[in-house]
Amino acid sequence: MTVLDPIPVSLPVELVVKRLRLARRGGETLARELLAEAAPLLRPRAVFREAFIEAKGEAEVVVEGWTFRSLILRKNLDKAEKLYPFVLTVGGGLEERAAAAGDILHQYDLETLADLAIESAAEHLSDLIGRRFGLENLSGMSPGSLEDWPITEQTPLFDLLGDVAKAVGVRLTESLLMVPRKSVSGVLFAAEETFVSCRLCPRDKCQGRRAAYDEDFRLTYGV
Ligand code: SF4
Repeated sequence: MTVLDPIPVSLPVELVVKRLRLARRGGETLARELLAEAAPLLRPRAVFREAFIEAKGEAEVVVEGWTFRSLILRKNLDKAEKLYPFVLTVGGGLEERAAAAGDILHQYDLETLADLAIESAAEHLSDLIGRRFGLENLSGMSPGSLEDWPITEQTPLFDLLGDVAKAVGVRLTESLLMVPRKSVSGVLFAAEETFVSCRLCPRDKCQGRRAAYDEDFRLTYGV
């Protein structure tokens, strides 16, 4: 497996102002203060590898001996021979600072900066994998993001990657949540049409939503 430590993160002031809606409460000055507080606490790292799909069932795929059970993942990998499991984290420093912040709004600001850092690092990781393996239009799925691919699938994902804790300091709790919490895991794969889980997820009021829920799209997957 390949470890990226550090993985580059870009947090432009304008993006921070927009995402935190700072225009009416401090603007760019507050954004810069928050970034100055957050930057030393970020420890962005990622681990990934190339893995070969050995078999495909109706609603599962076997990847180098590990079975992933998901109808949606199976359909997304219809034409794929490989996938790219990864775990990415920005470390625990910023979430600890946020938890210790007495002010709820300040806590929210720091938590959101950690999320933005994850998004930026994830983009870098996807670009790097695309370039390294000559792939275009990479899409991704994460265990637990859809009912069809539950969080229990973290186990084969981490097993497929190897010693993730040693590589990037991310471990799973008994309930299969990641520690540090500001981490993301999943698989990337080449897709003809970009796949975004949010299109299949009816959850209300999700700040991370990247695409509108699409009932017709959901029906094409038979879920
Ligand atoms: S809408 Fe939110 S919860 Fe649903 S898949 Fe997208 S980011 Fe995840």
